[in-house]
Amino acid sequence: MRSVEEALTAILAAGRLTDVERVGLDRCLGRVPAEGSVVAPGDVPPFANSSMDGFAVRAADTPGELLLDGEVAAGASSLPTVTAGRTVRIMTGAPMPPGADAVVPIEDATEDGGLIGLPAVVAGRFVRAAGHDTRAGETVALPPEPMTPSVIAVVASLGLHEVAVRARPRVAVLSTGDELVEPGLQLQPGQIHDANSVALAAAAREAGAEPVPLPRVGDDPEDIEEAIGQAVARADLLVASGGVSVGRHDHVRHVIERLGSLELWRIAVQPGKPLAFGRIGDVPIVGLPGNPVSALVTFELFVRPLLRAMQGLSGDGRQRVRARVAERLGKDPERRAYLRVVVSAEDGRYVATSAGGQASSQLRPLAASNALLIVPEGLEATVPGETYDALLLGGLA
Ligand code: AMP
Ligand code: MG
Repeated sequence: MRSVEEALTAILAAGRLTDVERVGLDRCLGRVPAEGSVVAPGDVPPFANSSMDGFAVRAADTPGELLLDGEVAAGASSLPTVTAGRTVRIMTGAPMPPGADAVVPIEDATEDGGLIGLPAVVAGRFVRAAGHDTRAGETVALPPEPMTPSVIAVVASLGLHEVAVRARPRVAVLSTGDELVEPGLQLQPGQIHDANSVALAAAAREAGAEPVPLPRVGDDPEDIEEAIGQAVARADLLVASGGVSVGRHDHVRHVIERLGSLELWRIAVQPGKPLAFGRIGDVPIVGLPGNPVSALVTFELFVRPLLRAMQGLSGDGRQRVRARVAERLGKDPERRAYLRVVVSAEDGRYVATSAGGQASSQLRPLAASNALLIVPEGLEATVPGETYDALLLGGLA
Protein backbone atom coordinates (compact mmCIF):
# COMPACT_ATOMS: atom_id res chain seq x y z
CA MET A 1 0.00 0.00 0.00
CA ARG A 2 1.20 3.51 -0.81
CA SER A 3 0.84 6.38 1.64
CA VAL A 4 -1.61 9.19 0.97
CA GLU A 5 1.32 11.55 0.27
CA GLU A 6 3.01 9.19 -2.19
CA ALA A 7 -0.24 8.64 -4.01
CA LEU A 8 -1.04 12.35 -4.18
CA THR A 9 2.43 13.17 -5.49
CA ALA A 10 2.10 10.56 -8.26
CA ILE A 11 -1.39 11.74 -9.18
CA LEU A 12 -0.47 15.44 -9.26
CA ALA A 13 2.53 14.67 -11.46
CA ALA A 14 0.11 13.47 -14.16
CA GLY A 15 -1.84 16.74 -14.28
CA ARG A 16 -1.29 19.10 -17.18
CA LEU A 17 -2.52 22.70 -17.20
CA THR A 18 -5.57 23.15 -19.34
CA ASP A 19 -5.55 25.58 -22.26
CA VAL A 20 -6.08 29.31 -21.86
CA GLU A 21 -9.36 30.72 -23.17
CA ARG A 22 -10.89 34.18 -23.08
CA VAL A 23 -14.32 34.25 -21.49
CA GLY A 24 -16.92 36.97 -20.96
CA LEU A 25 -17.34 38.40 -17.48
CA ASP A 26 -20.77 36.78 -17.13
CA ARG A 27 -19.00 33.40 -17.21
CA CYS A 28 -15.98 34.26 -15.04
CA LEU A 29 -17.34 33.29 -11.63
CA GLY A 30 -15.03 30.63 -10.18
CA ARG A 31 -12.73 30.66 -13.21
CA VAL A 32 -8.98 30.92 -12.66
CA PRO A 33 -7.19 33.85 -14.36
CA ALA A 34 -4.27 32.69 -16.48
CA GLU A 35 -2.27 35.86 -17.06
CA GLY A 36 -1.56 37.19 -13.56
CA SER A 37 -2.57 40.79 -14.14
CA VAL A 38 -4.14 43.31 -16.47
CA VAL A 39 -3.13 46.92 -17.15
CA ALA A 40 -5.78 49.53 -16.47
CA PRO A 41 -6.62 51.25 -19.76
CA GLY A 42 -7.92 54.36 -17.97
CA ASP A 43 -8.62 55.95 -14.62
CA VAL A 44 -11.40 54.47 -12.46
CA PRO A 45 -13.43 56.54 -11.95
CA PRO A 46 -12.62 58.34 -15.20
CA PHE A 47 -13.52 61.82 -13.85
CA ALA A 48 -13.91 63.56 -10.49
CA ASN A 49 -17.49 63.11 -9.28
CA SER A 50 -19.73 63.64 -6.30
CA SER A 51 -20.15 60.96 -3.66
CA MET A 52 -23.37 62.57 -2.34
CA ASP A 53 -26.59 64.13 -3.49
CA GLY A 54 -26.16 67.81 -2.57
CA PHE A 55 -24.65 71.06 -3.76
CA ALA A 56 -21.37 71.59 -5.60
CA VAL A 57 -19.52 74.61 -4.22
CA ARG A 58 -16.25 76.49 -4.12
CA ALA A 59 -15.14 75.61 -0.59
CA ALA A 60 -13.89 79.19 -0.14
CA ASP A 61 -17.49 80.41 -0.49
CA THR A 62 -18.67 78.44 2.56
CA PRO A 63 -20.22 78.96 5.05
CA GLY A 64 -22.81 81.19 3.43
CA GLU A 65 -25.93 81.59 1.33
CA LEU A 66 -25.27 80.83 -2.33
CA LEU A 67 -27.42 81.38 -5.40
CA LEU A 68 -28.67 78.14 -7.00
CA ASP A 69 -27.46 78.18 -10.59
CA GLY A 70 -28.29 74.86 -12.30
CA GLU A 71 -28.13 71.15 -11.79
CA VAL A 72 -25.87 68.28 -12.80
CA ALA A 73 -27.05 64.68 -12.82
CA ALA A 74 -25.14 61.40 -13.19
CA GLY A 75 -24.32 60.91 -16.85
CA ALA A 76 -24.41 64.64 -17.67
CA SER A 77 -21.97 65.61 -20.41
CA SER A 78 -22.37 69.40 -20.51
CA LEU A 79 -21.61 71.01 -17.17
CA PRO A 80 -22.44 74.43 -15.77
CA THR A 81 -19.50 76.35 -14.29
CA VAL A 82 -19.70 77.24 -10.59
CA THR A 83 -18.75 80.87 -10.20
CA ALA A 84 -18.18 82.93 -7.04
CA GLY A 85 -21.25 83.12 -4.79
CA ARG A 86 -23.12 80.42 -6.70
CA THR A 87 -23.82 76.71 -6.29
CA VAL A 88 -25.09 73.89 -8.51
CA ARG A 89 -27.35 71.04 -7.41
CA ILE A 90 -25.47 67.74 -7.91
CA MET A 91 -26.38 64.05 -7.77
CA THR A 92 -24.27 61.09 -6.63
CA GLY A 93 -21.94 60.03 -9.45
CA ALA A 94 -22.39 63.26 -11.41
CA PRO A 95 -19.19 64.90 -12.73
CA MET A 96 -17.90 67.80 -10.63
CA PRO A 97 -18.72 71.00 -12.52
CA PRO A 98 -15.78 73.29 -13.36
CA GLY A 99 -15.08 75.76 -10.58
CA ALA A 100 -16.47 73.61 -7.78
CA ASP A 101 -14.09 71.80 -5.44
CA ALA A 102 -16.41 70.35 -2.77
CA VAL A 103 -19.94 69.07 -2.20
CA VAL A 104 -22.32 69.80 0.68
CA PRO A 105 -24.79 66.95 1.25
CA ILE A 106 -28.43 67.86 0.82
CA GLU A 107 -29.10 66.92 4.46
CA ASP A 108 -26.76 69.70 5.66
CA ALA A 109 -28.22 72.45 3.44
CA THR A 110 -31.28 74.69 3.76
CA GLU A 111 -33.25 75.84 0.73
CA ASP A 112 -35.11 79.13 0.61
CA GLY A 113 -36.32 79.87 -2.91
CA GLY A 114 -33.21 80.19 -5.03
CA LEU A 115 -30.94 80.68 -1.99
CA ILE A 116 -29.10 77.74 -0.49
CA GLY A 117 -27.73 77.99 3.08
CA LEU A 118 -24.57 75.96 3.43
CA PRO A 119 -22.18 75.18 6.34
CA ALA A 120 -18.41 75.38 5.95
CA VAL A 121 -16.73 72.58 3.95
CA VAL A 122 -13.11 71.97 3.03
CA ALA A 123 -11.96 71.52 -0.57
CA GLY A 124 -12.25 67.91 -1.73
CA ARG A 125 -15.07 66.99 0.68
CA PHE A 126 -17.45 64.42 -0.86
CA VAL A 127 -15.50 64.46 -4.12
CA ARG A 128 -14.17 61.21 -5.54
CA ALA A 129 -11.01 62.08 -7.46
CA ALA A 130 -10.43 60.65 -10.92
CA GLY A 131 -8.49 57.37 -10.53
CA HIS A 132 -9.08 57.06 -6.80
CA ASP A 133 -9.81 53.32 -7.20
CA THR A 134 -7.39 52.59 -10.07
CA ARG A 135 -4.96 54.79 -12.04
CA ALA A 136 -4.60 54.55 -15.82
CA GLY A 137 -1.65 52.28 -16.59
CA GLU A 138 -1.69 50.67 -13.16
CA THR A 139 -1.07 46.89 -13.03
CA VAL A 140 -4.07 45.21 -11.48
CA ALA A 141 -3.21 41.76 -10.12
CA LEU A 142 -5.51 38.87 -11.04
CA PRO A 143 -4.11 36.10 -8.85
CA PRO A 144 -4.66 32.46 -9.81
CA GLU A 145 -7.65 32.03 -7.51
CA PRO A 146 -11.26 31.34 -8.47
CA MET A 147 -12.72 34.69 -9.49
CA THR A 148 -15.20 36.20 -7.04
CA PRO A 149 -17.98 38.71 -7.76
CA SER A 150 -15.77 41.54 -6.48
CA VAL A 151 -12.84 40.61 -8.73
CA ILE A 152 -15.25 40.44 -11.66
CA ALA A 153 -16.51 43.92 -10.69
CA VAL A 154 -12.94 45.30 -10.72
CA VAL A 155 -12.36 43.97 -14.24
CA ALA A 156 -15.70 45.39 -15.42
CA SER A 157 -14.92 48.78 -13.86
CA LEU A 158 -11.74 48.86 -15.95
CA GLY A 159 -13.94 48.51 -19.03
CA LEU A 160 -12.63 45.06 -19.96
CA HIS A 161 -15.28 42.57 -21.05
CA GLU A 162 -13.38 39.30 -20.90
CA VAL A 163 -10.53 37.61 -19.02
CA ALA A 164 -7.98 34.97 -20.06
CA VAL A 165 -8.68 31.97 -17.83
CA ARG A 166 -7.81 28.29 -17.67
CA ALA A 167 -10.29 26.03 -19.43
CA ARG A 168 -12.38 23.95 -17.09
CA PRO A 169 -10.94 20.41 -17.13
CA ARG A 170 -13.37 18.03 -18.84
CA VAL A 171 -13.90 15.08 -16.54
CA ALA A 172 -15.52 11.94 -17.91
CA VAL A 173 -17.44 10.23 -15.10
CA LEU A 174 -18.08 6.51 -15.48
CA SER A 175 -19.94 4.28 -13.04
CA THR A 176 -19.46 0.55 -13.38
CA GLY A 177 -21.50 -2.25 -11.84
CA ASP A 178 -24.16 -4.75 -12.95
CA GLU A 179 -26.33 -3.77 -9.98
CA LEU A 180 -26.62 -0.06 -10.83
CA VAL A 181 -29.84 1.60 -11.91
CA GLU A 182 -30.58 5.20 -12.84
CA PRO A 183 -32.21 7.11 -9.94
CA GLY A 184 -35.90 7.52 -10.69
CA LEU A 185 -36.25 4.02 -12.12
CA GLN A 186 -37.77 1.05 -10.31
CA LEU A 187 -35.32 -1.43 -8.78
CA GLN A 188 -35.43 -5.09 -9.71
CA PRO A 189 -34.17 -7.69 -7.20
CA GLY A 190 -30.45 -7.24 -6.51
CA GLN A 191 -30.26 -3.73 -7.93
CA ILE A 192 -29.39 -0.40 -6.27
CA HIS A 193 -29.60 3.17 -7.44
CA ASP A 194 -26.43 4.68 -8.86
CA ALA A 195 -25.35 7.40 -6.43
CA ASN A 196 -21.81 7.89 -7.74
CA SER A 197 -22.50 9.19 -11.24
CA VAL A 198 -24.28 12.29 -10.04
CA ALA A 199 -22.21 12.68 -6.86
CA LEU A 200 -18.85 12.57 -8.65
CA ALA A 201 -20.11 14.88 -11.40
CA ALA A 202 -21.19 17.34 -8.70
CA ALA A 203 -17.85 17.04 -6.90
CA ALA A 204 -16.07 17.66 -10.22
CA ARG A 205 -18.17 20.77 -10.78
CA GLU A 206 -17.43 21.93 -7.25
CA ALA A 207 -13.72 21.64 -8.07
CA GLY A 208 -14.17 23.88 -11.13
CA ALA A 209 -14.33 21.09 -13.72
CA GLU A 210 -16.85 20.34 -16.44
CA PRO A 211 -18.25 16.84 -15.95
CA VAL A 212 -18.91 14.72 -19.03
CA PRO A 213 -21.36 12.06 -17.85
CA LEU A 214 -21.03 8.68 -19.53
CA PRO A 215 -23.64 5.92 -19.73
CA ARG A 216 -23.22 3.40 -16.93
CA VAL A 217 -21.62 0.09 -17.85
CA GLY A 218 -21.98 -3.33 -16.25
CA ASP A 219 -19.17 -5.52 -14.97
CA ASP A 220 -18.19 -6.62 -18.43
CA PRO A 221 -14.53 -6.16 -19.38
CA GLU A 222 -15.25 -5.46 -23.04
CA ASP A 223 -17.95 -2.89 -22.30
CA ILE A 224 -15.69 -1.20 -19.75
CA GLU A 225 -12.80 -1.17 -22.21
CA GLU A 226 -14.95 0.37 -24.91
CA ALA A 227 -16.39 3.02 -22.58
CA ILE A 228 -12.97 3.99 -21.21
CA GLY A 229 -11.41 4.00 -24.67
CA GLN A 230 -14.08 6.38 -25.97
CA ALA A 231 -13.97 8.58 -22.87
CA VAL A 232 -10.25 9.31 -23.03
CA ALA A 233 -10.72 10.74 -26.51
CA ARG A 234 -13.14 13.37 -25.19
CA ALA A 235 -11.83 14.23 -21.73
CA ASP A 236 -8.85 15.67 -19.89
CA LEU A 237 -9.36 13.22 -17.02
CA LEU A 238 -11.39 10.07 -16.53
CA VAL A 239 -12.92 9.21 -13.17
CA ALA A 240 -14.44 5.75 -12.90
CA SER A 241 -16.02 4.20 -9.84
CA GLY A 242 -16.50 0.58 -8.88
CA GLY A 243 -14.74 -2.52 -10.10
CA VAL A 244 -11.24 -1.73 -8.78
CA SER A 245 -11.13 -4.25 -5.95
CA VAL A 246 -10.12 -7.91 -5.94
CA GLY A 247 -13.51 -9.45 -6.78
CA ARG A 248 -13.94 -11.70 -9.78
CA HIS A 249 -16.01 -9.01 -11.47
CA ASP A 250 -13.64 -6.10 -10.83
CA HIS A 251 -12.27 -5.25 -14.26
CA VAL A 252 -11.44 -1.53 -14.26
CA ARG A 253 -7.87 -1.95 -13.06
CA HIS A 254 -7.13 -4.58 -15.71
CA VAL A 255 -8.61 -2.41 -18.43
CA ILE A 256 -6.30 0.45 -17.39
CA GLU A 257 -3.36 -1.96 -17.63
CA ARG A 258 -4.48 -3.13 -21.05
CA LEU A 259 -5.13 0.30 -22.55
CA GLY A 260 -2.35 2.25 -20.83
CA SER A 261 -0.28 1.99 -17.68
CA LEU A 262 -1.31 1.46 -14.10
CA GLU A 263 0.80 3.62 -11.76
CA LEU A 264 -0.88 3.05 -8.42
CA TRP A 265 -3.18 0.57 -6.84
CA ARG A 266 -4.08 0.36 -3.16
CA ILE A 267 -3.52 3.30 -0.87
CA ALA A 268 -3.22 3.24 2.91
CA VAL A 269 -6.39 5.25 3.32
CA GLN A 270 -9.71 4.51 5.01
CA PRO A 271 -12.16 4.64 3.38
CA GLY A 272 -10.87 3.91 -0.10
CA LYS A 273 -8.01 1.42 -0.12
CA PRO A 274 -8.52 -0.07 -3.60
CA LEU A 275 -7.94 3.11 -5.60
CA ALA A 276 -6.37 2.64 -9.02
CA PHE A 277 -4.53 5.35 -10.91
CA GLY A 278 -2.94 5.28 -14.31
CA ARG A 279 -2.70 6.90 -17.71
CA ILE A 280 -4.08 6.10 -21.09
CA GLY A 281 -2.05 8.10 -23.56
CA ASP A 282 -1.64 11.37 -21.69
CA VAL A 283 -5.07 11.25 -20.05
CA PRO A 284 -4.94 10.42 -16.33
CA ILE A 285 -7.52 7.90 -15.16
CA VAL A 286 -8.59 7.42 -11.57
CA GLY A 287 -10.52 4.30 -10.63
CA LEU A 288 -12.30 5.04 -7.37
CA PRO A 289 -13.79 2.37 -5.13
CA GLY A 290 -17.52 1.84 -5.62
CA ASN A 291 -18.78 2.46 -2.12
CA PRO A 292 -20.15 5.98 -2.38
CA VAL A 293 -18.43 7.26 0.77
CA SER A 294 -15.11 5.83 -0.39
CA ALA A 295 -15.64 7.31 -3.84
CA LEU A 296 -16.41 10.80 -2.53
CA VAL A 297 -13.70 10.85 0.15
CA THR A 298 -10.99 9.66 -2.26
CA PHE A 299 -12.24 12.15 -4.85
CA GLU A 300 -11.75 14.84 -2.20
CA LEU A 301 -8.24 13.66 -1.33
CA PHE A 302 -6.85 12.88 -4.77
CA VAL A 303 -9.06 14.08 -7.62
CA ARG A 304 -9.99 17.52 -6.32
CA PRO A 305 -6.31 18.59 -5.90
CA LEU A 306 -5.58 17.22 -9.39
CA LEU A 307 -8.46 19.18 -10.95
CA ARG A 308 -7.31 22.31 -9.16
CA ALA A 309 -3.71 21.83 -10.33
CA MET A 310 -4.96 21.46 -13.92
CA GLN A 311 -6.49 24.94 -13.57
CA GLY A 312 -3.35 26.49 -12.05
CA LEU A 313 -4.58 26.36 -8.45
CA SER A 314 -2.51 24.96 -5.62
CA GLY A 315 -3.57 22.68 -2.79
CA ASP A 316 -7.09 21.50 -2.11
CA GLY A 317 -8.57 24.89 -1.24
CA ARG A 318 -9.74 23.57 2.15
CA GLN A 319 -8.98 24.72 5.67
CA ARG A 320 -7.53 22.47 8.33
CA VAL A 321 -7.96 22.90 12.07
CA ARG A 322 -6.94 20.88 15.10
CA ALA A 323 -10.03 19.43 16.74
CA ARG A 324 -10.49 17.58 20.01
CA VAL A 325 -12.55 14.40 20.00
CA ALA A 326 -14.21 12.98 23.12
CA GLU A 327 -15.16 9.62 21.61
CA ARG A 328 -13.25 6.46 20.83
CA LEU A 329 -13.76 5.95 17.11
CA GLY A 330 -12.33 2.70 15.75
CA LYS A 331 -10.30 2.39 12.55
CA ASP A 332 -7.89 0.15 10.66
CA PRO A 333 -4.39 0.60 12.21
CA GLU A 334 -2.74 -0.03 8.82
CA ARG A 335 -4.36 2.96 7.18
CA ARG A 336 -4.89 6.69 7.72
CA ALA A 337 -8.56 7.27 8.44
CA TYR A 338 -10.71 10.17 7.32
CA LEU A 339 -13.64 9.95 9.72
CA ARG A 340 -16.90 11.78 9.06
CA VAL A 341 -17.34 14.30 11.87
CA VAL A 342 -19.05 17.53 12.79
CA VAL A 343 -16.60 20.23 13.93
CA SER A 344 -17.79 23.14 16.01
CA ALA A 345 -16.03 25.92 17.91
CA GLU A 346 -16.56 25.79 21.69
CA ASP A 347 -14.84 28.26 24.05
CA GLY A 348 -12.32 29.13 21.34
CA ARG A 349 -11.42 25.48 20.64
CA TYR A 350 -12.50 23.13 17.90
CA VAL A 351 -14.41 20.05 18.93
CA ALA A 352 -15.20 17.09 16.67
CA THR A 353 -18.08 14.65 17.16
CA SER A 354 -18.86 11.65 15.01
CA ALA A 355 -21.45 12.41 12.33
CA GLY A 356 -22.78 8.84 12.56
CA GLY A 357 -21.78 5.36 11.43
CA GLN A 358 -18.35 5.20 9.81
CA ALA A 359 -19.00 2.37 7.34
CA SER A 360 -18.09 3.31 3.79
CA SER A 361 -21.59 2.42 2.66
CA GLN A 362 -23.20 4.91 5.04
CA LEU A 363 -23.73 8.05 3.02
CA ARG A 364 -25.95 9.92 5.46
CA PRO A 365 -23.17 10.61 8.01
CA LEU A 366 -20.97 11.95 5.19
CA ALA A 367 -23.76 14.28 4.12
CA ALA A 368 -24.26 15.37 7.75
CA SER A 369 -20.54 16.00 8.34
CA ASN A 370 -18.67 19.24 7.84
CA ALA A 371 -15.18 17.77 8.19
CA LEU A 372 -13.02 14.70 7.85
CA LEU A 373 -11.04 13.90 11.00
CA ILE A 374 -7.60 12.64 10.00
CA VAL A 375 -6.50 9.83 12.32
CA PRO A 376 -2.97 8.60 11.54
CA GLU A 377 -1.70 5.18 10.60
CA GLY A 378 -0.66 3.13 13.62
CA LEU A 379 -3.71 3.95 15.72
CA GLU A 380 -6.61 1.53 16.01
CA ALA A 381 -8.96 4.18 17.36
CA THR A 382 -9.09 7.83 18.34
CA VAL A 383 -7.92 8.52 21.88
CA PRO A 384 -10.67 10.35 23.79
CA GLY A 385 -9.54 13.87 24.69
CA GLU A 386 -6.84 13.95 21.96
CA THR A 387 -6.73 16.45 19.11
CA TYR A 388 -6.38 15.53 15.44
CA ASP A 389 -6.24 17.40 12.16
CA ALA A 390 -9.66 18.00 10.65
CA LEU A 391 -10.13 18.82 6.97
CA LEU A 392 -13.04 21.25 6.78
CA LEU A 393 -15.43 20.54 3.93
CA GLY A 394 -17.98 23.15 4.92
CA GLY A 395 -18.61 25.87 7.46
CA LEU A 396 -18.33 25.24 11.21
CA ALA A 397 -21.40 23.82 12.93
P1 AMP B 1 -17.09 -2.22 -6.02
O1 AMP B 1 -16.05 -1.17 -5.81
O2 AMP B 1 -17.54 -2.35 -7.43
O3 AMP B 1 -16.66 -3.52 -5.41
O4 AMP B 1 -18.36 -1.73 -5.19
C1 AMP B 1 -18.34 -1.63 -3.79
C2 AMP B 1 -19.72 -1.35 -3.27
O5 AMP B 1 -20.15 -0.10 -3.76
C3 AMP B 1 -20.77 -2.34 -3.72
O6 AMP B 1 -21.65 -2.56 -2.63
C4 AMP B 1 -21.47 -1.66 -4.84
O7 AMP B 1 -22.79 -2.09 -5.02
C5 AMP B 1 -21.41 -0.21 -4.41
N1 AMP B 1 -21.41 0.69 -5.56
C6 AMP B 1 -20.61 0.61 -6.64
N2 AMP B 1 -20.88 1.59 -7.50
C7 AMP B 1 -21.89 2.31 -6.97
C8 AMP B 1 -22.61 3.46 -7.39
N3 AMP B 1 -22.34 4.03 -8.56
N4 AMP B 1 -23.59 3.94 -6.60
C9 AMP B 1 -23.86 3.33 -5.41
N5 AMP B 1 -23.20 2.27 -4.94
C10 AMP B 1 -22.23 1.75 -5.72
MG1 MG C 1 -18.74 -3.75 -8.34
